[in-house]
Amino acid sequence: YLQSMPKSETIKLREKHIGAACQLFFRSTPLKIVRGIAQFMYDETGERYLDCINNVAHVGHCHPHVVEAGRNQMSLISTNNRYLHDEIVILAERLVKTMPESLSVCFFVNSGSEANDLALRLARVHTKNKDVITLDHAYHGHLTSMIDVSPYKLNLPGGPEKPEWVHVAPVPDTYRGKYVQPRDSHCDEELGQMYADEVGRLCEEIKKKSNGVCAFIAESLQSCGGQIIPPDGYMKRVYEYVREANGVCIADEVQVGFGRVGTHMWAFETQDVVPDIVTVGKPMGNGHPVAAVITTPEIAKSFADTGVEYFNTYGGNPVSCAIANAVLDVIEEEHLIERAARVGSHLLTRCQGLKHKHKLVGDVRGRGLFVGVELVTDRETRTPATAEAKHIVNRMREEKILISRDGPDSNVLKFKPPMVFKTQDADRVVDILDRVLAELDGNNIPMKVQLEVRVTPIRDLENSDHLLPSSTVQSVNAV
Ligand code: PMP
Repeated sequence: YLQSMPKSETIKLREKHIGAACQLFFRSTPLKIVRGIAQFMYDETGERYLDCINNVAHVGHCHPHVVEAGRNQMSLISTNNRYLHDEIVILAERLVKTMPESLSVCFFVNSGSEANDLALRLARVHTKNKDVITLDHAYHGHLTSMIDVSPYKLNLPGGPEKPEWVHVAPVPDTYRGKYVQPRDSHCDEELGQMYADEVGRLCEEIKKKSNGVCAFIAESLQSCGGQIIPPDGYMKRVYEYVREANGVCIADEVQVGFGRVGTHMWAFETQDVVPDIVTVGKPMGNGHPVAAVITTPEIAKSFADTGVEYFNTYGGNPVSCAIANAVLDVIEEEHLIERAARVGSHLLTRCQGLKHKHKLVGDVRGRGLFVGVELVTDRETRTPATAEAKHIVNRMREEKILISRDGPDSNVLKFKPPMVFKTQDADRVVDILDRVLAELDGNNIPMKVQLEVRVTPIRDLENSDHLLPSSTVQSVNAV
C-alpha cells in the first residue's frame, strides 16, 4: 500500500505532468520516499535513510501525537477562523508566551512565504515607507514579493532583477564574507560593528531620498547563506540603525525557530534583540502547512486601522492549529530544546575534530542542531570546494545518510536534522563523513565533477531545496 505504481512509472508521470522547475534531490537517481519515522525515512524498497536535512519534521517524521491531533480535529471540523475556536486562541497564547512581552498579536497563515509577505505588508502599512534592507544570499520565500527581497534568487540568468526599493547588505559571514577573521585580524565585536555599519550606510542613503526605511528582514542565523552565525553585537547594532531610520525589524524564524538553536526557542534571542515582527513556519506543523506572523499591538492596530479585512481561507483553521499545538506539546514533553543543545554540541565538536584531520574542512560553525561545515580547496585563500561538497553529498547518500549543501558557492555541508536526532546518529554521520573526506584527501575528485563547476559557475542547488534557473539545468543534468 506504500506505492501506487513502480518507481519508473512515478518518474515518467512526474516528467510529464509536474513543472520542470520543480526539481528533485539527486536528479539523475531520485529517491522515492514512502514513509518516515522519527529521524528516518524509507524508500519504496524499505531502505532506511538517516535524515539530516529535514527541519520541517521537527519533532520527528510522523510523530504519533501530532498525527493523532490532526486526525482527531479533521474528524470534528475544519473551517475558517471567522468562527470562534479554542485551538487558535490556545495556539496564539502559547506562541506569544515564548516571545518577548511586546510581541503579543498573531496572524495565522499557511507557509513561510505567506508569513513573510504579510510581515512586509504590516511593515509598509505601519511605517508608510517602502524601502527594504535584506542580506545578501538571503531567501525569504517563493511569492513574487519575497523573491524581490531574496538575493538568493535575484539577478540569476533569466531570473528576476532586484527592484530599486530593495537594498542588499553584505551577509555578516566572518569566514568568507566582506570582512573576515582572522585574516584581517579583527575581533568578533569589531567585525560586528563593521558589518552593521554597512546597514547603517544603507539607512542613511534611504533617508536621504525618502522618509526612511520600511523594514530590515533577516534570519538571525542565516541558513541559505551557508549556516552563518553573525559576529557579536551585529544584530543589535543593525536593529538600532534601522529603528533610527524609522524602519521595523523582521526576524525570519522559518528555518531556525522552535528551539533548533538549543539555548533558546527563537534564534533572535541568541542575538539579544527584540524584533517588531517575527515570522515562523516550517517546523511549526511538523509537515503540515501552518505558519504565523507575531507582532506588536501597535503594528497590528495600524493594519486594522486601514479598514481592510485580513482573511486567509486556511490560515488558523482548527486542524492546523491543533497540529501546531501538538508540536509544541512534543517540544516541551520530550525536552527537545535541551536535546538540540546536547546533541548539537556533540555534533559540532565531532565536526570540529574533522577540521584537524582533513584540509578540505575550512570552517565548522553552528548552534544547537544548526551546523555548517564549510569546505575549501585552500585554507589560505578559502577557495570554495564546490565540486567536493557535491561529491560528498552524493557519497553520503550512498551510505544512506541525507545531508544538503548551501551557501553562495554551495560548498557548506548543512546539518538541520529533526530534533529527535540522537548522539549515536551524530556519531554515525561524522564517522562516515570522516571516511568520505579521507577518500578525498588525495584530491582525487572525479574530473567530470570539476569540469561541471567550471561550466556552471553559479550555485548548483541540486541538493538544496531551491531552484536553479532553467538555463543552467542542462549543464547540471548533463554531468
Ligand atoms: N524563509 C526562510 C528562511 C526559508 O528557508 C523558507 C523556505 N525554505 C521560507 C522563508 C519560505 O517558506 P515556505 O517554503 O514555507 O513558503
